[in-house]
Order: sequence, then C-alpha cells, then structure tokens
Amino acid sequence: MAERLADVPPTAGLPLRAGDLAWPGTDADLASALARFLGVPQVQIECSGTACMVVALTALKRLAPTRTEVVVPAYTCPLVALAVAHCGLQLRVCDLQPGTLDLDPVHLHQLCGPQTLAVVPTHLGGRLTDVATAQACARAVGAWTLEDAAQALGARVGDGSVGVHSDMVFFSLAVGKGLTLFEGGALVVHDPALRQACAQVSAETVPRHRGWELRRSIELLGYALCYRPAGLGLVYGRPLRQALKRGDWVAAAGDDFDPEIPLHRVGRWRQAVGVRALARLPDFLAQGTARALRRREQLTRVTGLSVLGDSPAVPGAAGTWPVLMVWMPGAAQRDAAIRALWGAGCGLSLPFVHALPDYPRYARVVPAAEAGALPHARELAGRLLAISNSPWLDDARFEQVCAALARFSR
Ligand SMILES: *Cc1c(COP(=O)(O)O)cnc(C)c1O
Repeated sequence: MAERLADVPPTAGLPLRAGDLAWPGTDADLASALARFLGVPQVQIECSGTACMVVALTALKRLAPTRTEVVVPAYTCPLVALAVAHCGLQLRVCDLQPGTLDLDPVHLHQLCGPQTLAVVPTHLGGRLTDVATAQACARAVGAWTLEDAAQALGARVGDGSVGVHSDMVFFSLAVGKGLTLFEGGALVVHDPALRQACAQVSAETVPRHRGWELRRSIELLGYALCYRPAGLGLVYGRPLRQALKRGDWVAAAGDDFDPEIPLHRVGRWRQAVGVRALARLPDFLAQGTARALRRREQLTRVTGLSVLGDSPAVPGAAGTWPVLMVWMPGAAQRDAAIRALWGAGCGLSLPFVHALPDYPRYARVVPAAEAGALPHARELAGRLLAISNSPWLDDARFEQVCAALARFSR
C-alpha cells in the first residue's frame, strides 16, 4: 500500500509557535489588539462566536422584548440555530439567491415584520455577502442586523473591516477559523449605547469558570502541538475516516454540535496567545489570498467549475480565503467527488452537510420546511464542496485535486 500523505486541514488555520505560548505579561489584552486590527473603537471578547450571538441577541431582546424572531440563512452553521434557541427566540430560515450566498430579498421581505428582532447576513467561507439589502429590510421593520463573520476575520470592505458599518458583527476564534484560542469569539457593536448594553449582558450573565478555562487551555496547547502536518492525521484525519466509515457525514463535517452552549470568560493566558498570533495574521491572510486567487483561476481553467466569489452587490469587497468553495455541476457529481476524496487527506470537505431544516438532530430548534421550500439553499447544500486553502496543500497535490474534480464533473 502506498504511504498515506499527511492530512491537510480542511481550512487555513493560523499555526501557533512556541513563543506564542509564554506566560502573559502586559500582552494579554486581546480586545485592544483586535480593535486595532479591525480599526474599531472597541471589541468584546467572548468564549465563542456562539457566545457572541447569545450576548448580542440577549441585549437586543432586552431593548425590544416583544420581538421574538431571528432570520438566518437556511445554509449556515447549526450553532447559529442553537444560539437563537438558547435565547428563547424563534428561528426563521431564509432562502438564498440562486447560485450565491446572499439572502433572497423576496423571501427576506416575507419573513421580516414587527416580530423580527434581528437579521443575520452571513459571510460564509470568507466570502462577503450582501449586507445592505438585509440591513434595509431589517431597518424597515425596526429590527437590527447582526453580521455573522465567524469565518471572515480579516475580510475588508473598502478600507474598513467587514461588519463595522452595520449594527453588530461577530467573529469566531474557534479552531479552523483562522486565528484561534481553540474556542473564542469577538463582538463589535457600532452604536455606543448598544455596545454598552452588550457589555452589561456579558458582565451580568457570563461567569468566570475555572473548569472550562482550564479545559480550553489544555485544548489550545494540544492545538499548538498537533496543528502541523505530522499531527493532523491523529487529531483530524483519524476521527474523520472513522465517521466516514460509519457513513456519518454530519460528524465528518463537524456539524454534530452539543446543544449546551458553554458561557464563561476567556482567561489571560489564552488572550495573550491570541495577541501574539494576531501579529502574524495579516501576512498569513495576504499569502492565503494570493494562493487562493491563483488556484481559483486554475480551477476554472482546468475543470470548468465555478468558485464562489464575494457578492457582486458589495463594492470594494476583499474577503478572506480559508477555503475555496466550489460549485459542482450537480449533487450526484458532488457526492461522487466527496465520497472519493473526503477521507483522502487532500483538503476536500463539506462546509455544512445540509440546509438547516434537513438535520434531524436540530429538528427541535429549526422549523420544518416542506419538500419544495428553500430550493436554492438546498441546492447549494447538495452541490457545494470546499477545498482547503491551507499552505500545507502544496501545488502538486492541488493539481491532483483539480484533475480529480474534472473527472468527477464530467
Ligand atoms: C463557527 C461558526 C459559528 C459559531 O462560532 P463558534 O466560535 O464556533 O461558536 C457561527 N456561524 C458560522 C457561519 C460559523 O462557521
């Protein structure tokens, strides 16, 4: 048997260095470091992107207690649905515009009303989505916009960070989303009064919790040790192949989330690790962008497939590239390609396995959708696949991926 090549991680995560792990001195203020990086007055650090959503939605709920619904894209991370349910709010899922990640404006208008608390436009896979339309729709009914930039830290719109012009935006610092504390999140709020309200919710409801912080610190050390070509087989490749062997795509994609959402403060050590790694993020992202743009060309030239770009509705969009999201000609071709290549360690994966209503395990928190409903989100879920933009996917291996995709697309 041929020797198995090292597993490529499914996204371009920023590796840690030994020096990042030193004991914190005066460099443990991640909120200030991220505020400088993003060019905003203030950032609120929480223990996950999901926790940012919980804090933000709770603050909005206090301001408008009669509003009970949150509108999210039908194709997104199931944690979004869990966060909405955690806050005692109702989820409304919105279809996408055909062939894009933008919310379908017609469906969005139908969903928005006096009961709407927030609309959550989402920048999936680093790709910038149309926020202006969502914001206009939210404003018209007196609701707020909460941008989900969990997968887009570092994305720019014009000369500013993604998200800073709408009501609120959050970023995830989980494993695989670029900069990581193993788990963490950053919330940015435009209006000073609303920002104060979010800070207050956090101060009142998010406890210090030594147990969680210790666990996350050990997990972050594990990440520092194992997030390298020699370590990924053990921590990523092996469990992935076991899940695929069971036919459990939801586990393979990491979509099998625990409904319990941990809420706790982020300790000084993990913050200091984040501050030090953040210093390397701009270069890492710039190299990722150059590689992705080159490979996007190559993919379209070699295979005739299309790679999802930033929304044409966003002038001056410059998203990040944790992955290249590829639109396959059909669900059968996508499934054949993913069956052959997902477990092969060459960086292919599914961003999410289903549209939100199609996960049996989240039926409690996601309203059911009829067979013909949400056609575009469901089509996307069937046809999309992601190619890792990790620097460890070298050119030779990327070319093999291109050739395989060309074969499966015929
Ligand atoms: C990961 C993710 C979240 C949640 O962020 P965590 O930090 O993992 O809690 C929310 N939305 C999207 C689109 C995500 O990918």
